[in-house]
Amino acid sequence: MSSSYETVIGLEIHVQLNTKSKAFCRDTNRFGDNANTNISEVSLALPGTLPNLNRSQVLSAIKLGVSLDCDINKNSRFDRKNYTYPDLPKGYQITQDQKPICIGGQFTFKTGENYKTIRLHHIHMEEDAGKSIHDIDKTLTCLDYNRAGTPLLEVVTEPDFRSGQEVSDFMSAFQTLIRYIDISDANMEEGSLRCDCNVSVRTDANAPLGTRAEVKNVNSKKFAKQAIEFEAERQWGIITAGGEVIQETRLFEAESGKTYSMRKKEDALDYRYFPDPDLQSIIIADKVIKNIKNSIEFLPWEAEKNLKDDYGITPKVAETISQDKSLVYLFLEMVKDIKNNKLVSNFIVNQFITIQNKITNADYGIKRDVFTKMLMLINDDKLSASTAYTVLIPIILKTNEINIEQIAKDNNIFLESTGIDLGDVCKEIMNKFPDKVKAYQNGKKGLIGFFMGQFMKSGGKGLNPKDVQKEFENLLNEKPV
Ligand code: ADP
Ligand code: MG
Repeated sequence: MSSSYETVIGLEIHVQLNTKSKAFCRDTNRFGDNANTNISEVSLALPGTLPNLNRSQVLSAIKLGVSLDCDINKNSRFDRKNYTYPDLPKGYQITQDQKPICIGGQFTFKTGENYKTIRLHHIHMEEDAGKSIHDIDKTLTCLDYNRAGTPLLEVVTEPDFRSGQEVSDFMSAFQTLIRYIDISDANMEEGSLRCDCNVSVRTDANAPLGTRAEVKNVNSKKFAKQAIEFEAERQWGIITAGGEVIQETRLFEAESGKTYSMRKKEDALDYRYFPDPDLQSIIIADKVIKNIKNSIEFLPWEAEKNLKDDYGITPKVAETISQDKSLVYLFLEMVKDIKNNKLVSNFIVNQFITIQNKITNADYGIKRDVFTKMLMLINDDKLSASTAYTVLIPIILKTNEINIEQIAKDNNIFLESTGIDLGDVCKEIMNKFPDKVKAYQNGKKGLIGFFMGQFMKSGGKGLNPKDVQKEFENLLNEKPV
């Protein structure tokens, strides 16, 4: 028996859709409302109630499908998955078994310094169950049916992942995609994006797949990684001890970082799937698919390529900006006015990302315009970037003042207002100390501190030290004539 092994993982990912109403009735689909407030007769499955198809769920499924290179099944249908549980009032879940809406597909994401492509098996539509709450009451289980009937997409991947880290990186990239196409907030803490991790181990890549265990309902990237790593070690421990892994469903416990058996395959439920007679087949016209394709402005990887190839943004910065669609829009909006792609992209990555949570949606447009004007002044050499960022950004965030020139004037940070020509002062100092200049040019770079000190002595207040240092460095590194 070899001492190393390979981990194999396949995911079943649940995406809770952000449609206004539920999958099969008009009840509001919203997280966080008071318990049992969005529950009509249909959500409660009172006798005689019937489901109605929600067109938005179908459109969201197609949108995800075309983004992932799936084949859209133009003739799909819903099935009933029968089981009894208190949070499932109908006694069955409406899902898609035999004819899911999307077939195949693939997804490429970055993991470490490499790109990895995983294949998808299919995507199907279904509805969520209600929620059993065990921790409000000591003896009772409480039930909240608000979630019952929430529209879901389930994305089933092929067993193409090879580590917990890959799964974690995949979840990040997948979350970005979901938010780009705006079919869900993909908030993992609130359960809008969660996955079941199927894990097995084998001696090496050429060995047949091992028996898998399925870790249910993992709702964070960190937990997915932990659960997979724990599970792989556990299974490999069994195998090296001469035992056999059994197929079972397990639960991850965050406190211990361990997984626990929930049910064995022998007690696997027989769901008795059959076509739901209350819902018609879903026939999709080519035109619908084409319209949805056209409605997608750009996908994350397209935005990243665009930033690099068309705007000359460095790879790392392009990668960061493209992870958030709103930042891409911000960039595109700002460079319309400021013809300096580097200044704008660096501002977004180094400044804006860390302050954006302080800007309300209502203020977003106004603040963006003020920041744009600030960058224009920097680009015109009227303000030094670092002074503008330290002095102006807090004021812009705190006040409603939109006249950025006035704020800069009030704070006396206009470069001209100091009346100093940076280059002249620096040159004058260098002329006074020709031996120090020579020493610097011969490699004693630490002398930059000496020059800075001389500058400060000469009364260069009001100027940004970073700009002064840059000026010195530029002049000192020029070939001596
Ligand atoms: P089922 O229909 O019994 O749920 P599937 O064949 O549909 O099983 O697979 C469900 C998930 O389990 C898929 O994501 C698939 O990639 C994954 N999977 C299947 N076999 C293995 C295995 N041996 N190791 C890891 N994952 C697996
Ligand atoms: Mg399954």
